[in-house]
Amino acid sequence: MVESYAIDSIDRSEVLRYMGYTGQSMSSELEGRINANMERCLSIGVPRGVWRIFDVDGRGAKEDGTPFVRLAGTSLELLGTSMQKHMDGAVAVGVMAVTVGMGVERELRRLSLTDRVAQVVFDAAATTLVERTADACEASIVAAGHERGLFANFRFSPGYGDMPMATQPVLLQALDAQRQLGITLTDTLLMVPTKSVTAVVGLFETIQPSTHASCAGCPCFDFCTIRPTGHTCRG
Ligand code: SF4
Repeated sequence: MVESYAIDSIDRSEVLRYMGYTGQSMSSELEGRINANMERCLSIGVPRGVWRIFDVDGRGAKEDGTPFVRLAGTSLELLGTSMQKHMDGAVAVGVMAVTVGMGVERELRRLSLTDRVAQVVFDAAATTLVERTADACEASIVAAGHERGLFANFRFSPGYGDMPMATQPVLLQALDAQRQLGITLTDTLLMVPTKSVTAVVGLFETIQPSTHASCAGCPCFDFCTIRPTGHTCRG
């Protein structure tokens, strides 16, 4: 499923966090630049995502002992103890990729040559925007799981824990993400546009401790299609 997301705001406190701000005093000029770059990022960014759900086809350990979770209908395998734990008991897996587009990438490159302060602020805004985009895509997977009577945990990306970055090419291929979203990989497996996120979400027949505990604090809240029906993803 390929989707576009209407995102018209991002959390300023998240932008400050990505900037490394820890409460020091801030000039009104910097305040203005932060606001302006957040606005600019929202106007340039094109939040889009692609996701699919694959049934779990098997699990076990490779000859070298590396745990694996195999998915049906794709060569994508989830490797490592992090995935073994995250997908323990999962009957299906939502696989997702999102990006905010090449316009943001070009602006980051331009600012790196012209205005380093603006680059830092814009980069933080773009990271906040792509994580917000990932929230929206995750909400779609949670809702699709709900329709199948399944409960989701939360998204987990290659590079976290011991989930290998080498997962990226086959994950992107499984979603046809280059054609659908324009995401490519460098030789060192970094995504271009850099403001892109890939992740997997476990889907289970029973509610999980990590299933979004409350709508009030849920990152998917603004994008959730379950809640407006009077139900929740907790059943
Ligand atoms: S907003 Fe509520 S129902 Fe929707 S995904 Fe979050 S916790 Fe679940």
